[in-house]
Amino acid sequence: MLRRSLAISLVFAAALVAAAPAAATRYVVGSPGSGDPFFPLAGNGGYNVRHYSLDVEYEPDSDLLTGKTVLVARATENLRRFNLDLREFLTVSSVRVNGRRASYSQHSGQELSIDPRPKLKRGRLFVVSVEYSGTAEPVVDPDGSIEGWVPTEDGAFVVNEPQGSPGWYAVNDTPRDKATYDIEVTVPAGRVAISNGILLSRRERGGKTTWHWVERYPMAPYLATATNGVFETRFRRLESGLPEYNAVDPTTRVNAESPSNPALAWERLEPQPEIVDFFSDLYGRYPFESVGGIVDWAPNVGYSLESQTKANYWRIVGPSTVVHEIAHQWFGNAVTLAYWPDIWLNEGFATWSEWIYDERHGGPTAQETFDELYAIPEDSEEGQDLWFPAPAALPGPEALFHTPVYDRGAMTLQALRQKVGDAVFFELLRDWYRKNRYRNVTTADFIALAERESGQQLDAFFDAWLYQPGRPESW
Ligand SMILES: [Zn+2]
Repeated sequence: MLRRSLAISLVFAAALVAAAPAAATRYVVGSPGSGDPFFPLAGNGGYNVRHYSLDVEYEPDSDLLTGKTVLVARATENLRRFNLDLREFLTVSSVRVNGRRASYSQHSGQELSIDPRPKLKRGRLFVVSVEYSGTAEPVVDPDGSIEGWVPTEDGAFVVNEPQGSPGWYAVNDTPRDKATYDIEVTVPAGRVAISNGILLSRRERGGKTTWHWVERYPMAPYLATATNGVFETRFRRLESGLPEYNAVDPTTRVNAESPSNPALAWERLEPQPEIVDFFSDLYGRYPFESVGGIVDWAPNVGYSLESQTKANYWRIVGPSTVVHEIAHQWFGNAVTLAYWPDIWLNEGFATWSEWIYDERHGGPTAQETFDELYAIPEDSEEGQDLWFPAPAALPGPEALFHTPVYDRGAMTLQALRQKVGDAVFFELLRDWYRKNRYRNVTTADFIALAERESGQQLDAFFDAWLYQPGRPESW
């Protein structure tokens, strides 16, 4: 009885569906941004990228960059138009969607608008191919620093945090759209190109060398690299089985006044396997399938970056910078901020990682480092730099890499360690990593987890450390 009536109503329902007139699908224009408060045009709406295949050729003598980006994405809306990010100094010559030519326009400095024919249905996978070329030039940030494809004496230093990626490939440039990558870089024969993940092949043809790398773990666009030039390389498999790829520019140095010293650069990279083991024990297993470092000489860049699996060093850095960039593989690269104003989630964690590394290697304890910083008065010049602005209340993108994001961010973690005790604190860091690996996070997520695991109400604590300007006096 029950079954029969169900069968009847199903037939009836099916008849209704068949009889309904086909509703006209509404197609929309995907958003030109992805809602980041600091970079409103970075990233786009209407789709998620699953995989990028980048094919980039570079002529260092003329700075000519010729590229093709092929990406596979899934539409999250019915789209009659969608955007990619690509800087205007790279001129697009062809766009295809699912193999068919599509009309397009470049505008607003970094937007490439594409009209696919036929239009794209929500939920469907589609393939976009973009060909472009131009003279490579760096992207300049609100704080005046440069990034993207930065020409050097013999190649290019390629780093993208926070918005350099569209300076060398067509991309959905939001950290929330992680994807896997194939990256092929063609350079003059004899030059080296290092990218993310593992090296698949190296081909020589017509006086050029093509390096093909593949990153099979999810990667935020800003963590891609393709640094190239004259390099000494050492590729090997570590005892743990992890491939390690290192590259040192023979002209690299500590600063402009010191002589080239590749031997010192190699010495700096030597502890990498031990650092990987140390943080694997502390935070959980290493998140990726290769590791390495690129020591270039890029004096106009002035900072190093934790590019996924291959940190980029702009010069011969001190040992703590190598510790910092490797710690970022856990915090920053595997567990990634969702929005740029939450940058302390990357930098505070990497800086505190330096402190705990020192503590466990015969150096000052993290608490001693905290105490030394805490002693800096608010009204001193150094104190103005350390205590303002609060790390999770940055006034704008020009403050992204200011001192509080690093030092006050790390102090927040050390103060939390004091407050909840070592057992809860170290379990919290492991859980933060385990739950959020390959995903994106916000400050609110961290506060919620800290409260849950400690059983404490921590609003006032985090308010004092993360949101209020000036030195916290009680917490
Ligand atoms: Zn960092």
